[in-house]
Amino acid sequence: MARMRQQARGIRPIDLTDVQLASSETARRINRDIVLELIRANQPISRADLSRSSGLQRSTVSQIVEQLIQEKWVCEGAIASPPRGRRPTLLGLNEDLVVIAVDLHPEQATVATVDLNGRLLDRSIVPITVDPAASTKSITDCIEHMRRALPRKSIEGIGIALPGRVDPANQRMIFAPNLHWPNYDLKGAVETATKLPVKMENAATACLLAEITFRRMDGVRDIVLVTISEGVGAGVFANGHLVAGHHGMAGEFGHVALDPSGLQCGCGRKGCWEMFASCSAALRYYKEFEPRAGTTTFNELLNLAEAGDANATKALAQQALYIGRGLRLIIAGLSPAVILIAGDITSAWHRFGPLIDKEVAEQTLVGTPPRILPTHDGDVARLRGAAALVFQRRSVGPLTKATQRKSNGKKASRDFLTAHRT
Ligand SMILES: [Zn+2]
Repeated sequence: MARMRQQARGIRPIDLTDVQLASSETARRINRDIVLELIRANQPISRADLSRSSGLQRSTVSQIVEQLIQEKWVCEGAIASPPRGRRPTLLGLNEDLVVIAVDLHPEQATVATVDLNGRLLDRSIVPITVDPAASTKSITDCIEHMRRALPRKSIEGIGIALPGRVDPANQRMIFAPNLHWPNYDLKGAVETATKLPVKMENAATACLLAEITFRRMDGVRDIVLVTISEGVGAGVFANGHLVAGHHGMAGEFGHVALDPSGLQCGCGRKGCWEMFASCSAALRYYKEFEPRAGTTTFNELLNLAEAGDANATKALAQQALYIGRGLRLIIAGLSPAVILIAGDITSAWHRFGPLIDKEVAEQTLVGTPPRILPTHDGDVARLRGAAALVFQRRSVGPLTKATQRKSNGKKASRDFLTAHRT
């Protein structure tokens, strides 16, 4: 309390162009997000336990739970058997609420169904070409096929993780140097074909959202997630907020030049970080060391290294060195506490992790370097990211008319203060 009083005496900078007054509605939304998060983390859980862990009044918890059940986020499940007293009905996330997740790469897209707990229920691969309309048709055909296979599930929407940036103002792809689909309205095309709402986001930002949503990076307020695939992308979570930046372009570290006289990059410039650190770069290194080698995929390269191929090992070590070198840009600019790495390299973390750690430790200016961690589930991270786009947006959506009528504004505001004091 003493600390709170001290804070109340200070002046907090307020951006008057973007003020959200602490109305009772804001308080209700925040309380609702807290309850949903507690259910997600502690399911199955009773209303009484929700009230205890949130500090919210029992009646407020019941109102919020009723709203969440009505919106199909939460469902009632088993009945608990406490040692004595009334037997409460336990609550959990509704597993029948699903999202279609699309992970788009320049040569293929993965289409999957993901539930509210971030579990993958179904997955297919669709080939992608430089023809955006034909490629989108293959994706939407696959979505329709998947929908028919899940008649009992309620599909909340479609989330697409992209190898590029989306302008938050108009949801158009504005920068996708490896995809070559200029000025194509992907969101519009998928929405027209499927009649489902579509959310799109850069793959790295989507992965980061999934890590925050499903992995529970509790208490870590500064995280950068780097995707290493055909290119190198980054998503930024700074001081507890996802950063989009002007035109949604924040995080394009992959296109900062490490060597301005280097190879031509897909973005039109030369010697970008991704020309040294991407999986395509590793394949190029291998070809240089082993000119007689045929066409190899990155997974084949990983397998060759595991089988003891010296040139494959050398190519991957060079990629790891450049990943570590580029991370310096991120550490100098943002000083994150954690850097998460997503992509196929995470399956060979025993190989990449120590080399990247060493490079980063050598470059740390002062204090301890950030923790560099692989995302647990390789390519699944991008799919869960695409799903999180849809689930996340809805969690801050407007209240339904029915629950608005029933809620008592004053009480909700008081409860909000209580929840934040504990
Ligand atoms: Zn570039």
